[in-house]
Amino acid sequence: NGSVRVNMSNVDSPLQIFVRAKKKINDIFIEIDDYVKDAVTFMHAVSGEKGIATPQDVANVEAYVSKVQAIREVLKRDHMKVAFFGRTSNGKSTVINAMLHDKILPSGIGHTTNCFLQVEGSDTDEAFLKTDGSEEKLNVQSVSQLGHALCDSRLQERALVHVYWPRELCALLRDDVVLVDSPGVDVTPNLDEWIDQYCLDADVFVLVANAESTLMVTEKNFFHKVSTKISQPNIFILNNRWDASASEPEYLEQVRTQHANRCVDFLSRELRVCSPKEAEERIFFISAKEALLTRMREREKPVSSPILAEGHQVRYFEFVDFERKFEECISQSAVRTKFAQHSRRGKNIAADVQAALEQVYNSASDRKASMVEKQRILHEQLTAIEEQLTTITRQMKDKINRMVESVEHKVSLTLSQ
Ligand code: GDP
Repeated sequence: NGSVRVNMSNVDSPLQIFVRAKKKINDIFIEIDDYVKDAVTFMHAVSGEKGIATPQDVANVEAYVSKVQAIREVLKRDHMKVAFFGRTSNGKSTVINAMLHDKILPSGIGHTTNCFLQVEGSDTDEAFLKTDGSEEKLNVQSVSQLGHALCDSRLQERALVHVYWPRELCALLRDDVVLVDSPGVDVTPNLDEWIDQYCLDADVFVLVANAESTLMVTEKNFFHKVSTKISQPNIFILNNRWDASASEPEYLEQVRTQHANRCVDFLSRELRVCSPKEAEERIFFISAKEALLTRMREREKPVSSPILAEGHQVRYFEFVDFERKFEECISQSAVRTKFAQHSRRGKNIAADVQAALEQVYNSASDRKASMVEKQRILHEQLTAIEEQLTTITRQMKDKINRMVESVEHKVSLTLSQ
């Protein structure tokens, strides 16, 4: 269909930590599935007339089949989730588009996102929308259509709209990253509900701030709430619109240092989510608009405003640096939080099934031992009986002999008279 495909050689991407771990754990669960099914077959074979496994033993092991199935389903859908927050028009949608190398989300005046938008990979070649709780697929071919679809559906703030975009067009989507755009933190009093509904499973939070002003109380408040509900959230701060600094180069370093210090202070001393040193690695000065333009050009997509301000390359490198650190952080965090739990459960299931098999084996061994014992006792009894018989027979023989002798004696006496 003529669309330019993203460079697919991303085997070096830190996201591969998650992708490989996911493949591995999925493979392990295929093995656990086989093992549990084998155990069920075995249990059936030794139950019934054989009476080694009881119906309860069989049912116990059978219950693990659906448990393993359920975990495998969850594992297939596991992904890395990043959520973007900030005031309206700070550039959240533009940052997401730049990361996806394409204008996917509508941005700019008249396109204020007033609901949550979750961009995720679609396995088909089509792009479509789905609102939460509905199975209806709304097809979208272009950004303007997406914008209209979002306006038309009269979405409430707090609603979640899923935007499915062909995986093959975006490296991030192909590697199972899900990106969530939010309404501005300045437009809602319902921050708690937002966090409970959309943030508890986020691996990374990105605060898109405006480098032309300082961090606002509403923005800080939101992250204060996040850090009370989630322990040690991973937060990145993007000071966006840094291209504005090009018009005042003489103040650039001074402004940057001032912003950076405040952000470090916010993450390390106010929120206490990381050390000041770690915080320095989480703060970036970028221009999402320029990054998106650069990438659209790389993909030979028609774009307007060809002139980029002084220093755009430096800002673009910083954007790429942000992406790399973000990828490292999200994949490590997702592997830790998502797969650690699954592998613990996998281990427990394998151990439980083994214990059930051992129990059946032990009761079979017990029965064998008791039968051997019974046989031994019987053997002893038989030997005793045999001995008794021998004695009796001998005694009888003697008795009969004696009787015969006495009869013979009597007969000979009678005859001799
Ligand atoms: P959102 O409401 O936070 O999603 O903000 P948008 O992404 O819709 O951006 C709002 C407006 O700011 C749009 O017109 C963007 O083109 C513009 N914008 C976004 N990022 C930048 C940037 O880095 N520099 C400049 N100059 N404008 C930007």
